[in-house]
Amino acid sequence: MERLFNFSAGPAALPLSVLEEAQRDLLCYPGAGCSVMEMSHRSRPYEEIIEETEATLRRIMNIPDDYAVVFCQGGATMQFSMAAMNYARQGQKAAHAVNGVFSKKAFEEASRWCDAYKIVDTKTSVPEITEDMILPGTAYLHITGNNTTSGTMYRNLPKHGDIPLIGDWTSGILGTEIDVKDYSLVYAGAQKNMGPAGVAVAIFKRGSVLPDIDPIVPSLLRYETMDKTGSMLNTPPTFAIYMCGLVYKWVEEQGGVSELQKLNEKKSQILYDVIDSSKLYKGIADKDCRSIMNVTFTLPDEENTNAFLEMAKKRGMISLAGYRSVGGIRASIYNGMPIEGVECLAECMVDFEKGYRE
Ligand SMILES: *Cc1c(COP(=O)(O)O)cnc(C)c1O
Repeated sequence: MERLFNFSAGPAALPLSVLEEAQRDLLCYPGAGCSVMEMSHRSRPYEEIIEETEATLRRIMNIPDDYAVVFCQGGATMQFSMAAMNYARQGQKAAHAVNGVFSKKAFEEASRWCDAYKIVDTKTSVPEITEDMILPGTAYLHITGNNTTSGTMYRNLPKHGDIPLIGDWTSGILGTEIDVKDYSLVYAGAQKNMGPAGVAVAIFKRGSVLPDIDPIVPSLLRYETMDKTGSMLNTPPTFAIYMCGLVYKWVEEQGGVSELQKLNEKKSQILYDVIDSSKLYKGIADKDCRSIMNVTFTLPDEENTNAFLEMAKKRGMISLAGYRSVGGIRASIYNGMPIEGVECLAECMVDFEKGYRE
């Protein structure tokens, strides 16, 4: 069975060498006598794995010592609630920038806990956010750094005064440079650009959470408890964390996040160039906020869209259908997607527009 160019938005393509390393050590992790999946999370070999995983992430993202790194469960969606519970009191105002599907979900989950309001509400653009838009008494400002479904991305940080800034960078982390010092909290589900599903990483400034978190908040949903226990309040998703560690090492071997960002800019530009010189394809995202991770566009109708998906599949490219509620085509070109895959897609787009059908 041949591996195809996988444009899935998540769980998404992982670097082949990472999968090969995991495969090599799957049955017996060197020195441990068992698989990573079978070892106690309190064992020495596993302690080394999680410590090294965190240390590598700290290096590749330049995370300073006054920021904690914790591995959580429940995906990015659980972070929607966890962030609200740690940074806002029940009923307190919280500003949510809504720029697409996941930011709307984050807003809705936060609304269960606090008085969340939409500071902006857009679908295909990322408007500027200024301090005067923040209502008095607001606990924090939440943004979604890269909007996975519509394919938009924040280029300029919002101006948020002295309230905490929280960033969901699930689909951008490690693909574009993020300065965690700009935020009180950055979180990301792993399955877009860091590893397999089952773990979310949260990076937060120590001491930035509320000093008096509501007693009703479960231990597992407290950032400081997760920090104090080394993400081991209970059994962590051991294998998913191990896989993230392999990806972090791979990122470092590629020259780090800045090199990957350059490559992702190049990859996305190849596709945007085709879109911009085409009469058939229309970009979904506004030009000034186009994502370098998820490239979205439409064809004139469903018939063309389906014919395009079919032709791409015949050429070895899968998972290009747009998000359910957005439609069209979405090419997710995270770090795991080599430039050859992007070139193959660009060629298919050009050929399709010329009228070739396969
Ligand atoms: C995929 C995604 C999520 C949801 O992630 P889960 O791990 O499935 O909960 C949240 N935010 C963004 C930006 C995403 O891309």
